[in-house]
Amino acid sequence: MAQYDYDLFVIGAGSGGVRAARVAAMTGAKVAVAEEHRVGGTCVIRGCVPKKFMVYASEFSKGFETARGYGWDIGETRFDWERFLMEKDKEIARLSGIYVRNLQNAGAELVHARAHLKDAHTVEVAGKGTFTADKILVATGGKPWMPTELPGIEHAITSNEAFHLERLPKSILVAGGGYIALEFACIFNGLGVDTTVMYRGPNVLRGFDDDIRSFITEEMEQRGIKIVLGTQHTKLEKTANGIANHDTNGHALETEQVMFAVGRIPYTEGLGLEAAGVELTAEGAVKVDDYSRSSVENIFAVGDVTNRINLTPVAIREGEAFARSEFLNTPTTFDHETVASAIFTQPQIGSVGLSEADARKKYGKVDVYLAKFRPMKETFYGGQQRALAKLVVECRTERILGCHVIAPDAPEIIQMAAIAIKMGVTKPQWDATCAVHPTLAEELVTMREKHVPMAMGQVA
Ligand SMILES: Cc1cc2nc3c(=O)[nH]c(=O)nc-3n(C[C@H](O)[C@H](O)[C@H](O)COP(=O)(O)OP(=O)(O)OC[C@H]3O[C@@H](n4cnc5c(N)ncnc54)[C@H](O)[C@@H]3O)c2cc1C
Repeated sequence: MAQYDYDLFVIGAGSGGVRAARVAAMTGAKVAVAEEHRVGGTCVIRGCVPKKFMVYASEFSKGFETARGYGWDIGETRFDWERFLMEKDKEIARLSGIYVRNLQNAGAELVHARAHLKDAHTVEVAGKGTFTADKILVATGGKPWMPTELPGIEHAITSNEAFHLERLPKSILVAGGGYIALEFACIFNGLGVDTTVMYRGPNVLRGFDDDIRSFITEEMEQRGIKIVLGTQHTKLEKTANGIANHDTNGHALETEQVMFAVGRIPYTEGLGLEAAGVELTAEGAVKVDDYSRSSVENIFAVGDVTNRINLTPVAIREGEAFARSEFLNTPTTFDHETVASAIFTQPQIGSVGLSEADARKKYGKVDVYLAKFRPMKETFYGGQQRALAKLVVECRTERILGCHVIAPDAPEIIQMAAIAIKMGVTKPQWDATCAVHPTLAEELVTMREKHVPMAMGQVA
């Protein structure tokens, strides 16, 4: 039998890699993890976690306005970007340290350097040597995609840099219509930055329910964010005061900063996967089966590098399923159906299951329950922020196929709704649940009237 340095070598200490390494190491397997940047990966270092801190920071401006409406006298307010960054970096360092300790406590060895494959059982780690392993797990995540052919693109930042800007710009153009673009637009807007979103498509958040897409656009505009749709960038030009963005509509918009959030790609470049015989998809993702096994028997991949559902909890579950299958002798797959997701815009979005359009495609006839309203917290002081609750129900079985919410704390609401929907709850069962009052979420269990879409030309 072949002898290897390790039972498992993991490349990438992000959400998926760390979970897999810990579970495998705790079985007594000899495990090493290579990380080229900081332990914790995208989520902890330059994704979900620092972003959520920025969301919290940016929500205060609206909070102050609300407080005034409720009788508070608020003096002059000022946001100290440098102080915030310092506190944010301290907390990120603390969290990254916890990840390191968790790996060490589980018995995994950490190698701080970039790794690539030499062959199906050999990993070369920059400056550290060459190691062999029985199994190799690729968990290298993704990275921002940039249109490198766009003249002047070097003047734009990505989400990676947005976490470390030396100073908060007075104005920013955020290119992109996905969740990262919208979240950052709301963050900057909340921090007082004059913010414009520019997206080539006809509507933001492709793949989400159409009511969610149009409603969030209206709510963001109501908050003062300018949203320009259906146009493309032709060039970026450095100016005395910032960057001028030229677009196919013939406009030139000058802002102090330009951020591109136009997509992410699997981070497989330079990993030596092709040399090891690992098949990639056209987008460069590692092709895997339900057990996260690649086209090479002993090489596996989990998380964003496989481009299945690019979310932290999914990467964690895929990593865990892999480790259980390979090291606990318990074949385990992760079910990618009905995974809930959140968007930390302002207001926030929570969504689980099918959009109305996808449900109609798949099931034909569906019933829709839709409520758009101003929550009582807003009406009290004349605040304008609205909320949306929507259920998509299969006519034949009355099963709830999708639930979509826009509201403060919508992600918290959707986490709970996702349990029932994953279990296959029907509308009558849902309705049998008594409301919790007075809450915003009670709207979800009190929607009885089917929504009839307006005919063309009808006025709301
Ligand atoms: C701005 C932003 C916000 C996000 N917000 C959310 C959110 O709110 N909720 C959510 O669920 N998801 C969110 N995500 C997505 C989430 O961060 C990812 O889905 C998740 O981190 C994927 O985990 P992973 O283990 O696949 O990869 P990663 O966490 O990206 O980890 C991969 C690790 O591999 C390392 N690496 C890569 N190549 C090598 C190499 N050759 N050698 C050594 N190390 C290497 C990298 O440095 C990295 O640390 C967000 C992402 C971004 C960018």
